[in-house]
Amino acid sequence: MKSAQEQDAEHARIAEAFARDESLSKELRALADDARVTVRRAGAPAKGKCVVYWMQRAQRGRDNHALDKAIEVANVLGLPCVAYFAGIKNFPHANLRHYAFLNQGLPDIEEDCAARGVGFVMRRAPEEDHERFFADVDAAMVIGDENPMREPERWRAKLAKSLRVPFWTVDADVIVPSKLLEKAQFSAGVARPRLYRALPEFLHDYENPAALKVWRKPRGLHTDDIREDMTRGWKDFDRSVLPVAAWQGGHHAAMKRLHLFCGQMLETYDRDRNHPELDGSSKLSPYLHFGHLGPLTIALALNAQVKRQPKLAAARDSYFNELIVWRELAVNFVRYQPEYDSPGCADNWARATIAEHDRDEREVLYTLAQLEGARTHDELWNAAQLQMVRYGWMHNYLRMYWAKKIVEWTRNTATAMKWAIYLNDRYFLDGRDPNGYAGVAWAVLGKFDRAWGERPVFGKRRYMSGASTGRKFDAEKYKEQMNALPE
Ligand SMILES: Cc1cc2nc3c(=O)[nH]c(=O)nc-3n(C[C@H](O)[C@H](O)[C@H](O)COP(=O)(O)OP(=O)(O)OC[C@H]3O[C@@H](n4cnc5c(N)ncnc54)[C@H](O)[C@@H]3O)c2cc1C
Repeated sequence: MKSAQEQDAEHARIAEAFARDESLSKELRALADDARVTVRRAGAPAKGKCVVYWMQRAQRGRDNHALDKAIEVANVLGLPCVAYFAGIKNFPHANLRHYAFLNQGLPDIEEDCAARGVGFVMRRAPEEDHERFFADVDAAMVIGDENPMREPERWRAKLAKSLRVPFWTVDADVIVPSKLLEKAQFSAGVARPRLYRALPEFLHDYENPAALKVWRKPRGLHTDDIREDMTRGWKDFDRSVLPVAAWQGGHHAAMKRLHLFCGQMLETYDRDRNHPELDGSSKLSPYLHFGHLGPLTIALALNAQVKRQPKLAAARDSYFNELIVWRELAVNFVRYQPEYDSPGCADNWARATIAEHDRDEREVLYTLAQLEGARTHDELWNAAQLQMVRYGWMHNYLRMYWAKKIVEWTRNTATAMKWAIYLNDRYFLDGRDPNGYAGVAWAVLGKFDRAWGERPVFGKRRYMSGASTGRKFDAEKYKEQMNALPE
C-alpha cells in the first residue's frame, strides 16, 4: 500500500494531466481545479444518464461540498444528479448503536436532496453493491467524499481502479482541505499557524446549488426504505450495544443543537466546558462523526453569532481551537500516520520512556470485562465509564482521565491502547473517528504532548491523578448523574 504522501503525489500528477487535457470541456476542468477535489480516475464523463454522488462520510443533503460538486458537474453535463448511500453491514467496529443514529439521519438527507432536485437512494446489504448501482442508473461520472481512515480510503482507492467512469472525491468534512498540510504535523502548535493561515480562503458560505435537471427514479430501480431499520434481517451483525434514546441523529437535529449552542451556550463555553457535570460543551461530536454536520457550518454559525455579539469572540476562538486545530490535527494524524491505532505511532521520546517503564509493576490490574463493566475501585472512573456505556458519549476532560487510568491498570502500553480503542469505538457515538485515535494516542502514548517529570509506569508521559482531576469540578454531582443514567 502506498503512503499517503505517495498517493498525494500520484493524485497531483493525475490532476495536472487532467487540467491539460483539452479534449475535456473548460467548465469540467475548472470544477476539478479546487483544493478540495482529488481526481482519482481522470478522463471524459461517459455517455450516461446521471452523475452519482456516492455519499459515505458526509451524510447530509445541505452544506456538503461533495454534493455541491456533484450537482455542479451534473449541471455542466446537462444531467440530473443522484446521491447514493450503501448500507453495508460490516462497517469496521460499528454496531446497532451506531447504525441507529445513522439511520435517523437518512430522511433528512432525502428531504434536503429533494429540495435541490437531487435524488437519494439507499441500498442496504445484500443489495448495496456500488458498481451495480452505478450501472443500474447509468452513471456518467461518480463523485465521492473523503474519509482518511484506513478502510474507507482503501475502498476509494479500489473503486478508482475498478470504475470505468471518472471518479473524483471531495474533502467535505474539514475546513482546510487535509492534503494542504502535506505531511504529518508534530503538534497542535505546529499545525495551528498553518491551519489559521489557510482559513480565510476556506471560511466561505456553501453554494448549495440546485440541480438544473431534476432526477427522476428510473422505473424498476431497486431502492431500500430509509425509514425502516437498515439492519433488519442482518444475521451476523453486532446488536450487543443498544441505541441511546437521548440522542437523535440527523442534520436537522444537529442544526437544532448548533443553534442552541450558538444562541445560549457559547457565552459560557469557556467557563463550563471543563465541567463534566454541566451541559457546557456543544456535544456536536456525534454529528460531526457521521457527517450530519460539517465543521464549516459550525464555524460560520459561530462567526455569525460573534457578529451579533462581539463579546463572544474569545469563546469562539477557544471553540475554534478544538473544532479546527485539534480536530483537523486528528484528521492529519490518521491521514499521514499509518500506525495511528498502535504504539508504533509514538514519538521517539515516548518510545524510549515506554520501553523503560512498560514492565514496571502496576498497583492494580483490571481485566477488560472489569473495565467495560465499570467495576474498578475508582468511583470517578466508573462514572465516566457509565457515561460511555449508557449515554454513548463522554466529556473531554474525563476522556483524558479515563484513558490515562487504563494505562495505569493494564499490563503494558500495547494492551492499554488496544483496550482503550476497543471501548472507545464500541460505545461512543462519535467513536471510530480520527479524533478517537488521536485522543487515545495523546493519553496513552503522549502523542502531541511533551515529556513531563519521570514517574513509575508512565515514565515521562503526562499523568493525571484522581484527586486533582476530581477537584476541578463537582465530581460528586457528576457521579450521581452518571449512576442515575438509564441502563
Ligand atoms: C482518550 C480520548 C478519546 C477521544 N475519543 C474521541 C472520539 O472517539 N471521537 C471524537 O469525536 N472525539 C474524541 N475525543 C476528543 C474529544 O474528547 C471530543 O471530541 C469532545 O469531547 C466532544 O464533545 P463536544 O462535541 O461537546 O466538544 P466541544 O468542546 O464542543 O468541541 C467542538 C468540537 O471540536 C472537536 N474537539 C473537541 N475536543 C477535541 C479534541 N481533544 N481532539 C480533537 N477534536 C476535538 C470535536 O469535533 C468537537 O465536537 C477523545 C479525546 C480523548 C482524550
